[in-house]
Amino acid sequence: MPISTQQFASDNYAGACPEALDAMLAANSGSATAYGEDEWTQRAADNFRTLFGGDAEVFFVFNGTAANSLALAALCQSYHSVICSAAAHVETDECGAPEFFSNGSKLLAAPSVDGKLTPDAIRQLATSRSDIHFPKPRVVTITQPTETGLVYTVEEVRAISAVCRELGLKLHMDGARFAHACASLGCEPAEISWKAGVDVLCFGGTKNGMAVGEAVLFFDRALAQDFDYRCKQAGQLASKMRFLSAPWIGLLESGAWLRNARHGNDCARRLAAAIADLPDVSPIFPVEANALFLSAPVPVLDALRARGWRFYTFIGGGARFMFAWDAQVERVDELARDIREACLAVAA
Ligand SMILES: *Cc1c(COP(=O)(O)O)cnc(C)c1O
Repeated sequence: MPISTQQFASDNYAGACPEALDAMLAANSGSATAYGEDEWTQRAADNFRTLFGGDAEVFFVFNGTAANSLALAALCQSYHSVICSAAAHVETDECGAPEFFSNGSKLLAAPSVDGKLTPDAIRQLATSRSDIHFPKPRVVTITQPTETGLVYTVEEVRAISAVCRELGLKLHMDGARFAHACASLGCEPAEISWKAGVDVLCFGGTKNGMAVGEAVLFFDRALAQDFDYRCKQAGQLASKMRFLSAPWIGLLESGAWLRNARHGNDCARRLAAAIADLPDVSPIFPVEANALFLSAPVPVLDALRARGWRFYTFIGGGARFMFAWDAQVERVDELARDIREACLAVAA
């Protein structure tokens, strides 16, 4: 359904940014070798290695569910288990794909108040059993930023990876909004990934302004063995790979990856600031990335819906607003105004 006015229900409502689209158009000149053996794919992978200052093995897939599931499957045998937060996308929103692609590796979900996974929770789950009847813990996965819009600090990621090393676990990062975490922390991508002990990173392109596509970065190249076969078997090997890889060139070489993320983060903070004085509504989680989860009385939410606003309420009982690269500042202010008026109307 076409949407005449901008909505903030999901950052996936946004289109593709000019930098990504221009790069895709540039890649559309003449013919190129298929299945990733082309110059665009090479250049995009090199761009990632430059950005991260390392020697990562890089793969391009269509979506985040595949990126996460295949990366986790690469780290596990079927009798292994994966420790995650109970709020993790891999647990709640991937339809069992991580278990499916790993032939049954079990997800062990740790209860979490705010969506984050902690070293204590990891230790507790990983050491709860050591007998033959329990799926052997093998991987920890964290989402950066979390599904609740929180950002793990460099110290937090380091503390988690330290526990992983101690317990013989690999560390995977679901970075569907990794760029937003970099923008929020103001740190180099390497600082919160491989330098902090992350073994495999799924770097989201779709929520960063691409039409489609995610990158999987193996910082430990040995872990990437046969990953290309895994992608092919899963239906994730693009034949005209240049169209999946070239948009990354547009994002990374222009700096749009960071600009886009900063803008989304700024808009979330702008909305939070504009309604901070209202006594009836408050953010459920601190605004650290491009999300605002609003706790509000039901009549206020109803009034917002009646004014045409769309939002999801399936996390934390509040209303979720997400801001993409294209968020219009005037629309953000309009939302703030409508929240204020809805509060006044309900209080009257
Ligand atoms: C959006 C998202 C993904 C990817 O979802 P797809 O719809 O499969 O592309 C993965 N993890 C998180 C935390 C997400 O928000």
